[in-house]
Amino acid sequence: MIDLHCHSNYSDGRLSPQELSVLASKNGITMLALTDHDTLSGVHEIKALLEPAITLIDGIEISVRWKKHDIHILGLNVNTSDPGLRQLILSQQHARRARALEIGYQLSLVGVEQAFEKACVIAGHDHIARPHFAQVLVAENKAHDLGVAFKKYLARGKSAYVETNWVTLDKAVEIIKQAKGHAVIAHPKKYKLTNTKLTELIAEFKTSGGDGLEVISGDTSLKDSNQLAGLAQRFNLLSSTGSDFHGFKNSSVMLGRQRELPVNCVPIWHQWTS
Ligand code: AMP
Ligand code: MN
Ligand code: MN
Ligand code: MN
Repeated sequence: MIDLHCHSNYSDGRLSPQELSVLASKNGITMLALTDHDTLSGVHEIKALLEPAITLIDGIEISVRWKKHDIHILGLNVNTSDPGLRQLILSQQHARRARALEIGYQLSLVGVEQAFEKACVIAGHDHIARPHFAQVLVAENKAHDLGVAFKKYLARGKSAYVETNWVTLDKAVEIIKQAKGHAVIAHPKKYKLTNTKLTELIAEFKTSGGDGLEVISGDTSLKDSNQLAGLAQRFNLLSSTGSDFHGFKNSSVMLGRQRELPVNCVPIWHQWTS
């Protein structure tokens, strides 16, 4: 099994790199990319922990601002010591922190005190992502579960949604390419874009030098994966697969348990193994 998209507790996942490495062995993973949001800390740690039979692909998931949408671009097989990439990570973390403080303020207006500080306690660090705030909202009885917390407070258009000054699409792709990585649009069906807008995103990504589409992400339906496979073919893009596993107990997603790529796809990992 190949899984090129998952998270550790260095971002918004629940498992440590140690726990993820145990799960990767248990689930028969042969190639794994750990792709935390805007950080490589987990990658450095898991390197020494994975059993030798598992190939680690150094990865990262970069948040991008594109036409008022927050889009996620995976950098796969990147050179983790590339100075441009390291600089980007610092500026993304700066933007993330500024946003988290503002979300904390917005939540104080609806009666949740010290939400930023509470999110930091849950995360164990201060690279706060919205699921950390969602967990605070659940703990404070403001929402039933994480999904409701997003729907009521954190999703785009809701009271605690804060626009973030993420890197642009073309800059993110340029930096990933300079770091000798492959750039992939993560979970293209998650952005609720119209088909026209999705095609526009993919066309711009391709023009910027992007390499691939995540044709299978988590529990992508057969219909969606077939549509994405068609788009990958049309734009001459490689195809990637990943669970986007975060380790949440009530999620239907499991590390390395995605459906197969449609047959008309060119798997991105063939670039690394041949
Ligand atoms: P952030 O990078 O802080 O904007 O957080 C984005 C993360 O929130 C994604 O990577 C998902 O893990 C999670 N997420 C986004 N939308 C939802 C949702 N509707 N329900 C639960 N988790 C979500
Ligand atoms: Mn996430
Ligand atoms: Mn994502
Ligand atoms: Mn992800």
